[in-house]
Amino acid sequence: MARYTGPVCKLCRREGQKLFLKGERCFSDKCAIERRNFIPGQHGQRRRSKISEYGIQLREKQKVRRMYGVLERQFRTYFKKAARKSGVTGHNLLQILERRLDNVVYRLGIAPSRQAGRQLVRHGHFLVNGRKVNIPSYLVNAGDEITVREKSMEVVRNLSRKGRINIPAWLSLDAPKLTGTVLQLPTRDDITVPIQEQLIVELYSK
Ligand code: SF4
Repeated sequence: MARYTGPVCKLCRREGQKLFLKGERCFSDKCAIERRNFIPGQHGQRRRSKISEYGIQLREKQKVRRMYGVLERQFRTYFKKAARKSGVTGHNLLQILERRLDNVVYRLGIAPSRQAGRQLVRHGHFLVNGRKVNIPSYLVNAGDEITVREKSMEVVRNLSRKGRINIPAWLSLDAPKLTGTVLQLPTRDDITVPIQEQLIVELYSK
């Protein structure tokens, strides 16, 4: 599956908020949002006219898509899948995005960012329930165990996030063994990033 390979700080600046795409740098004063919090491009600092309802919905969708590193086609597929499931479509959509393996290794603090998580998964450093999985969009299930392959331990440990990490309640981590467990599927309350998923549902329901 294709992925965005351009400069990622630009994406945060376009959305006007931190999307945490670069790992440690996002927490430092080198973050582009701290230094240049305006829309990138020649006319980025111009005063903007009032944004339309469609514009608000579009920006919310783009923000979430960029946060999780998903391109439009796959995001739309996730939306269709979420709409088919019972329950609230917006919540289902966020749950699907959270269950992606690249997101899970990021949430566990094993990868410094989702993008790094994606690369680690792609390079085949992880096992899910003892089987090698190198698909970043692989969706984990409750009870799944994510381990690092024996020969990848050193490289993954060097990359893993240092310091205090807030691991969400639906996951647990055995830090010395770098082993994560999916305790349950994430609920809306477990996803604390400021997302207005209803706007995305409205956009795609037009
Ligand atoms: Fe976004 Fe991180 Fe770049 Fe800051 S450092 S602009 S949060 S990607």
